[in-house]
Amino acid sequence: MSPRAGDRPRRPAPQWALARVVELLDETPDTKSLRLELDEPQQYLPGQYYNIRIPVEGRPRPIQRAYSLGSSPIPEGRVIEVGVKAVPGGLVSPRLVFETHVGDELEVRGPYGTFTWTEEDGGPVLLVGAGSGIVPLMAMIRYQAARGTAIPMHLLYSSRRRDEVIYLTALESLRSEHEWLRVSHTFTRDLDDPLARFHRRIDKEMVQLVAREAEAQLAYICGPPELVDDVERTLIESGMDEQRIKTEKYD
Ligand SMILES: Cc1cc2nc3c(=O)[nH]c(=O)nc-3n(C[C@H](O)[C@H](O)[C@H](O)COP(=O)(O)OP(=O)(O)OC[C@H]3O[C@@H](n4cnc5c(N)ncnc54)[C@H](O)[C@@H]3O)c2cc1C
Repeated sequence: MSPRAGDRPRRPAPQWALARVVELLDETPDTKSLRLELDEPQQYLPGQYYNIRIPVEGRPRPIQRAYSLGSSPIPEGRVIEVGVKAVPGGLVSPRLVFETHVGDELEVRGPYGTFTWTEEDGGPVLLVGAGSGIVPLMAMIRYQAARGTAIPMHLLYSSRRRDEVIYLTALESLRSEHEWLRVSHTFTRDLDDPLARFHRRIDKEMVQLVAREAEAQLAYICGPPELVDDVERTLIESGMDEQRIKTEKYD
């Protein structure tokens, strides 16, 4: 008899752990990927996030924020990668981006979240992201590349301009290696760059066009709350079942 969900042992709640910064990658002038090494191998699903907490001068307790993993969970290992965009005036993100060095230790806890995709969820998949909202979508793309499945994925990704595109070269090489991946950039502050297919903010017409081309059966939307709500509404109005849309809001 196969085990029922209720029979399976529950995973223990994640605990704070120390992670060592082993590599820092400049993604854009204000965004870095931080590769963090833990003592134990980490098991997570593509799209999940970890909490990071750091001491901040003048604050009695460490300040905690959520950061999605941009890395693939396979092959399993002790190194995870978060992608952090510095928010001007923010308490945590500018410190992680501009004041963290290789060899530093950070407190992390995870994984968390239900904004996840694996091949069992199927497709074709529409991925819509803006700014740092690309991070968990990249984990899904990298996971499928590592897994070797070929479920069609179409990424619609909004940035201000080319130099603010996170994972620019990684996305270009994934796109050239995998026929299942299509990438449509839209740039909101550069009206000429041919790298972008569109040159405006993500709008209804754009979402409908890309969803139709992708023959999307499933959608993942991540970024600022207003964008996430607008794209979700458009997809529902276009006939996509609400249950087939997953969202993550970075507020
Ligand atoms: C599930 C989830 C996953 C996420 N994943 C990512 C990710 O992968 N990458 C990423 O970069 N971000 C991610 N985020 C966002 C991230 O958690 C933080 O919200 C972000 O980094 C900003 O944190 P901060 O401490 O730098 O800014 P905060 O200190 O929270 O400040 C945010 C803004 O508010 C302003 N502000 C702060 N205090 C005040 C005040 N008293 N009055 C007026 N304005 C004020 C600041 O100037 C700043 O503009 C995620 C969020 C969620 C919920």
